[in-house]
Amino acid sequence: MGKLNFNPGPTALPLEVLQKAKEGLSNFADTGFSILELSHRSQAYQSIHDNATKSLAAYLNIPDSHDILLLQGGASLQFTMVPMNLLGQKKTAYHIVTGSWSKKAYKESKKIGPTEILASSKERDFAYIPPESEWKPVPESAQGYLHITSNNTIYGTQWRELPHVSSLPLVVDMSSDIGTKPIPWENVDIAYAGAQKNLGAAGVTVVVIRKDLLTGDSTGLPAMLDYRVHAEKGSLYNTPPTFNIFVLQLMVQWLNDQGGLQAFEARSLDKSKRLYDVIDRSDDFYIGHAERSSRSTMNVTFRLQDEELTKVFLSKANEAGIIGINGHRSMGGCRVSLYNGIGIEACERLVDFMQAFKRNYS
Ligand SMILES: *Cc1c(COP(=O)(O)O)cnc(C)c1O
Repeated sequence: MGKLNFNPGPTALPLEVLQKAKEGLSNFADTGFSILELSHRSQAYQSIHDNATKSLAAYLNIPDSHDILLLQGGASLQFTMVPMNLLGQKKTAYHIVTGSWSKKAYKESKKIGPTEILASSKERDFAYIPPESEWKPVPESAQGYLHITSNNTIYGTQWRELPHVSSLPLVVDMSSDIGTKPIPWENVDIAYAGAQKNLGAAGVTVVVIRKDLLTGDSTGLPAMLDYRVHAEKGSLYNTPPTFNIFVLQLMVQWLNDQGGLQAFEARSLDKSKRLYDVIDRSDDFYIGHAERSSRSTMNVTFRLQDEELTKVFLSKANEAGIIGINGHRSMGGCRVSLYNGIGIEACERLVDFMQAFKRNYS
């Protein structure tokens, strides 16, 4: 049996997408050239680029009020670009800290301008999403924006619904759950995500930004860090990661062909439920990390009774061809990542393995 890839990102891609990517490497659309050799100013490349944004807009239901940028530098560069572009005079970045990535976003923002924490779930080891009732009140005169991480890849928690503070635009790091549930664009001002978890391969970062945030003066911002420059140039200010955008386009087209966002939302719920059911029915043989109301449909985190048994579990999983389920080095335990490229059958095989392991070791 083939190996199963549950890595936290980059991760598995559908075979059809890999096959088409491979075809593009030898002769792209009868140009006689590899996709890798095409000029980014050519008609052939431009059509890939346009298709990528069009397919994304269709898949994620992005309204005309928002622009789609295809950038580089990963979500990690967005930790810097967001405050650089949004923190003008008298503005503050309000952060909800729900895990390692949101801690990083907060730290980077502090280097750029006024940044405050409205709530954090650190005291319970980031096992939950703090409800709005537990936040520090937002000052009435507050100006700036609210920043959250919609899915916490390392701890395995996820916002069920995005918060809405009427006085503050909302900026969301969607790195690990973009493309797996509908996005209420009327309340989301910026969403950003690297493609390597749910939308394709590493090297291209999707930034969806409400167009009114692109007005105003940006004199003094380095061009490469200025959303306005990228928006004006259709994300072709400099050479874009052409191959990664090709893979993004293939992946999003595949997602659309396979039933679109609704289908993948249902699939994510189905896949994660299968694993949570094993955990919940295991009489604490498997112990989940996230509190139930905050559980992620993307990253299922758990451990076994002790570290020794967890080690045996991980090594037997590896022998069975189940790859990438060790927890993050900061957390230990186990983490199964269930992004869009992971099929139900892969999940079923993992469930069977977990049940057999429990029979043998409890
Ligand atoms: C993976 C991840 C990141 C980091 O993304 P890069 O593209 O490697 O910079 C940031 N935030 C979250 C929530 C992630 O899952």
